Amino acid sequence: MCGIVGANAQRDVTPLLIEGLKRLEYRGYDSAGIAVLDHDKSIQRLRVVGKVRELELALTKNPVHGFCGIAHTRWATHGKPSEINAHPHMSHHNIALVHNGIIENHVKLRQELIESGYHLVSDTDSEVVAHLIHQQISKGSTFLDAVKQTVAKLEGAYALAIIAENEPQHIIAVRSGCPLVIGLG
Ligand code: GLU
Repeated sequence: MCGIVGANAQRDVTPLLIEGLKRLEYRGYDSAGIAVLDHDKSIQRLRVVGKVRELELALTKNPVHGFCGIAHTRWATHGKPSEINAHPHMSHHNIALVHNGIIENHVKLRQELIESGYHLVSDTDSEVVAHLIHQQISKGSTFLDAVKQTVAKLEGAYALAIIAENEPQHIIAVRSGCPLVIGLG
């Protein structure tokens, strides 16, 4: 069981996201990652195999800061624990996504994406979701509509948190069969 956390605030959310991951550590995981958006910057992402502590250490060497972000501790179900399979997964540098659960029809979706010219870099079932959202946006959908159209294609259990470079004021969260809590403070 992995953990996902997202935060949107008027200050740097990186410390909030790391704190959130630490609180979810008890669930068990093999790798950890974070992606944040800052004013006038593209999405910055950092992933490690190992503990949240390792992610913190990596952040001291390669700091990422932003007012909107998502983070993840992964419990691998599809693809070995590795940096490339760790979340967040991205599509074309402008969608980043964290996923808890299993996308049962990922093989079919992956094949359709490859036929449409998408290049998938990980072995996960999760990466397909990032590309499907990107594909809908590139066909003209808004970020929210793209997520709705994408989840209509998914079979399985998921909690997802997604950010998009073009809509830095939003995190979209969606779930089916996995728990997800939203807080406002
Ligand atoms: N199925 C996804 C993966 O293998 C997510 C696993 C999880 O819930 O951590 O990356």
